[in-house]
Parts: sequence; structure tokens; C-alpha cells
Amino acid sequence: SDHALEYPASPSAMDWSSHYPAFVSTGKTPEFADVGCGFGGLLIALAPMFPDTLMLGMEIRVQVSQYVQDRIIALRTTSAISNAASPEPYQNVSIVRANAMKFMPNYFPKHSLSSLFFLFPDPHFKARKHKARIISPTLLAEYAYVLRPGGIVYTITDVHDLHEWMKSHLAAFPLFEPVAEEDLRAQGKGPIIDAVYSSTEEGKKVERNNGQKWLACFMRIEPRRIL
Ligand code: SAM
Repeated sequence: SDHALEYPASPSAMDWSSHYPAFVSTGKTPEFADVGCGFGGLLIALAPMFPDTLMLGMEIRVQVSQYVQDRIIALRTTSAISNAASPEPYQNVSIVRANAMKFMPNYFPKHSLSSLFFLFPDPHFKARKHKARIISPTLLAEYAYVLRPGGIVYTITDVHDLHEWMKSHLAAFPLFEPVAEEDLRAQGKGPIIDAVYSSTEEGKKVERNNGQKWLACFMRIEPRRIL
């Protein structure tokens, strides 16, 4: 249960130095957050592409988050020796065991994130379980708070009903605006989109089963001024 989870009282109480020791002097906080990161495939794919951007996975399962932590430590150790071009590989990626549905604003300062990922979230098929879905009007207010204007929410799922659900809730929320995959690619975000589609363990599983994938991306916009 959540009682066993440790979480910071506020973002300023969060000590990132043990997560990103190579970045301590920069004062940086995470800019990319992968919510329900599972086994960490997205973070591992993106880390070398954006070596100066701090990234954080949030995963509620104990063993899974421990696995990702071990995976990152192993990658830091082994690739430090082999990759001279990037002397501190994977130093920009870390994970917390956390319930992202409850404690998101405890971790991230207002407007600190540029990308927020929801990749193959648990579908919670039954109607009475829909309130457990990771995209909901209440939670969207929190996501809008931690995302900076211009920041992107990436969602992908193999469950069409969930795709429609996430899309309709995001579209109905005043601080998010749909953004087409082509437009993001034109802005140089193609490598991110490619990783969203196929770098995660769940995404690979869907591919093995010849399943379909539904992508929906939204931009955090500035509230319209009322004149
Ligand atoms: N995103 C990964 C992928 O694409 O491979 C994992 C997808 S898996 C179907 C959903 C993950 O979300 C699980 O690992 C689950 O433990 C995690 N999760 C569910 N609810 C969560 C919450 N409230 N906070 C953090 N993680 C959560």
C-alpha cells in the first residue's frame, strides 16, 4: 500500500543528487517523466539521445522499480568504459517507486516538465474501474501544473477504447491541445515518437502479437486570456 511509499513533501524537499550525481552542480530537475514506466525501455532508449536532459521513471511495483534501478546502475557502469564520446552515459536517467496518481506534484516543480509519457497504461476495462485510469480530469490538472507551456503529453495504447478515453479527456481539458504526429516529427521529435511506439517492453509485446497501436499527443498550452 501507499503507506510503505516514501515521497517528498514538496519538490523542493526532493533530493535529486543521489539520482543524478553527475548533474549535482547544474541544479537541474527532471524534464521528462515516464509515468508507469514498467521495465524502463523508453528511458533507456531516450537517455543517450538527450544526454543533457534529466529523465525520471515512476513505477508503483516494488520489484519492477528495483529492476529498473539495477538496470540503470549496470548501464552506467558498463557503458562508462566503452563510450568515450559521452563520458557519463545514462547519468541522466533515474527511477522512483511512486504512485504517480497521488504524488506527481510532490516530485516536480510547476512547469518543470517538457515531456510526459503514458505508454500502454493499464486499461482498467470495466466501467466501474475507469476511475482508476491514469488519465482523468482531476489528474489532468496536476499534469498541466507540472508541464510547461509547449510541453507534450505522449499517450499510446493497444486498447482502442482507452485511446478514445485518453483523447477525449485531454481534448476536453482547457490546457491541452491535440498535436499531430506529423507536426511533432516536423519539429524534430521523430526519435521520441519512434521510441514511444516501440522501445518499451509492452510496445514490443504488442508488436509480437501483431496488435495495433494508437498514439495521441497533446500540447500544454497557455490559458487563453480573457479580455
Ligand atoms: N509503460 C510501460 C511499457 O510500455 O512497457 C509499462 C506498461 S504496464 C501495462 C503499466 C505500468 O504502470 C505497470 O508497470 C504498472 O505497475 C504501472 N502503474 C500503474 N499504476 C501506476 C501508478 N499509479 N503509479 C505508477 N505506476 C503505475
